[in-house]
Amino acid sequence: MSIEPVSLSALEQDDRVDELVRNFMQALMLESGFAKLKKDQQEQVRSVLNSVIKMRFDSVSSFQNVVIGLLRSIAPDLEKYITIAIDSARDMLKDNKGVLVIYTGGTIGSAPKDLDDPDSPQIVKPWGDLKSAGPILGRLGYPVDAIAFVEPLDSCNVGPRHWLTMVRIIKENYGNYSGFVILHGTDSMVFTASALSFMITELDKPIVITGSQIAGIVNPRNDAHQNMITAIMLANPEAHKLALIPEVFISFGNLIVRGNRAKKMNVVEYQGFNSPNYPLLGRAGDHIVIERKQIRRPSEIGVQFSELMDTNVIIVEVFPGMQNSPVLSNILQDENLRGVVLKAYGAGNIPTDAPFLKMFTDFIQRGGIVVCTTSCPAGEVVMGLYETSQILVDIGIIGGFDITPEAALCKLMMLLGNFEDLSEAKRLMQQSIAGEQRLSLETTVLAGKKSIQSGGMVELSSSLNSKEDNIERIEKVMLVFKNAKLDPGNDAPDARAAVKLFLDGETTEEGENFLGSFSRRRVPSNALITNSTIGESLVIDLTLKKHHFLKKESKGRIKVEQKVRINVALEGEGGASFSWEDAELKIYTMDQ
Ligand code: ASP
Repeated sequence: MSIEPVSLSALEQDDRVDELVRNFMQALMLESGFAKLKKDQQEQVRSVLNSVIKMRFDSVSSFQNVVIGLLRSIAPDLEKYITIAIDSARDMLKDNKGVLVIYTGGTIGSAPKDLDDPDSPQIVKPWGDLKSAGPILGRLGYPVDAIAFVEPLDSCNVGPRHWLTMVRIIKENYGNYSGFVILHGTDSMVFTASALSFMITELDKPIVITGSQIAGIVNPRNDAHQNMITAIMLANPEAHKLALIPEVFISFGNLIVRGNRAKKMNVVEYQGFNSPNYPLLGRAGDHIVIERKQIRRPSEIGVQFSELMDTNVIIVEVFPGMQNSPVLSNILQDENLRGVVLKAYGAGNIPTDAPFLKMFTDFIQRGGIVVCTTSCPAGEVVMGLYETSQILVDIGIIGGFDITPEAALCKLMMLLGNFEDLSEAKRLMQQSIAGEQRLSLETTVLAGKKSIQSGGMVELSSSLNSKEDNIERIEKVMLVFKNAKLDPGNDAPDARAAVKLFLDGETTEEGENFLGSFSRRRVPSNALITNSTIGESLVIDLTLKKHHFLKKESKGRIKVEQKVRINVALEGEGGASFSWEDAELKIYTMDQ
């Protein structure tokens, strides 16, 4: 589904008046008209201009009028050179990469509706008001341009249309600036930060988002100016000898946090945001200190923009009693709905009564995607840790690890907007795209429905579906037999049957590639399974054998297809059988 951005006529471009004023004097003095003036006239012009450049102007034309007016009585012949000098001052700015500020609104640019009544409701003011009340940006020594929403918004009214507009502005200007600053309200800031991190990937420049708790236009005491300057400095790291953060991030108060990890933590205090599930990217105290280890590497493949978002998604928070009302069922039956982010209890648990789960099963079977996140600010979803969440895996709910529900929602919008192929959208939902989650999960399907009899053996084989070539980053390898059934073949209480697994054609239990015998609860290697039937997934931890699943390259750095081969044998009395619906190898890797 495509969303229309806000129209470009709703944007206004700032005309760099501050920088221009800074360069004007130098430009005028290079003009022949200035050289022709008498010495005392030149002195007078210099002294007038020295005071003019300390003044503030709304636009280049108001600056021009003031200069013309002031110089008319001193050096009337200079008038015709003023426009020429303005053009040269403009040219001087051309190759100087600076920062582009995108002003969307928020408290940072608000003021009381009635300026004489400080208690009247706050309204968001145009960029010009904030710019003239704030620090003189042009004096930073590099251009700070601005594109502003003509009708700036409270961020409660910011959504995908505005994200798309921001993406387009950055796309059109990406090559022209060192970095970008988005001035934004705090209420929906983490959604915008998350969405942009998925819409603009493979970054090699900073996109810094900030706002403020106190309005910056009329309050002498505020955090607006401070936040704005820090963000601009972070967006031009070279100019300030700072480390480059090639990410979409929030700089607010003292803290610098990854955008898709951020949480709004406080409605009033200067420290409005934090990222409880990911270390800080830096701190801005008396010095700006960047935690280089926590930041992403600049991309080498070049920035990518995505402009498609599907907004037919919803966040649903799990609460006691939701299973007893028809409300959720009505929502899940909405024919427009394509994706659900569940804010589950703790490590990803939800009520497990059958009718409740059936609603999700039906929704997933109709082509919906359900992602399970934790409602806790810190910690992560471990699907399968408790039976209450293993069932979710079995019905096709995706585990979101430690992604925030806000980031999961925006990621889902982007993936559903871009991928017709649902399985690809689901696959990417489980991968870290922009550092939004600690782990990525890559699944290799080894076999579909199969069954073996006692004494039998079957080889499962497929090419490895994982790009990981660093063993340190592989955190977990699991072999999953979905809906596995192990039947010892007779009803005797001591009937025994065991599933034995071997890698790469190994056939003996003494060999290095014998993976052991397994039960549903991962009893120690070589133990025998005695339960008569396992009606759910049989999950086997192969992490100790992770070196087998590392992506290898041949000597000439030519990628070789890498096969995974696992032999499954069944040992037991006559009549025993082992069957499953799908066999999958799941490799969990840590983000870069
Ligand atoms: N309602 C405001 C907004 O989000 C709050 C703020 O900026 O702090 O635009």
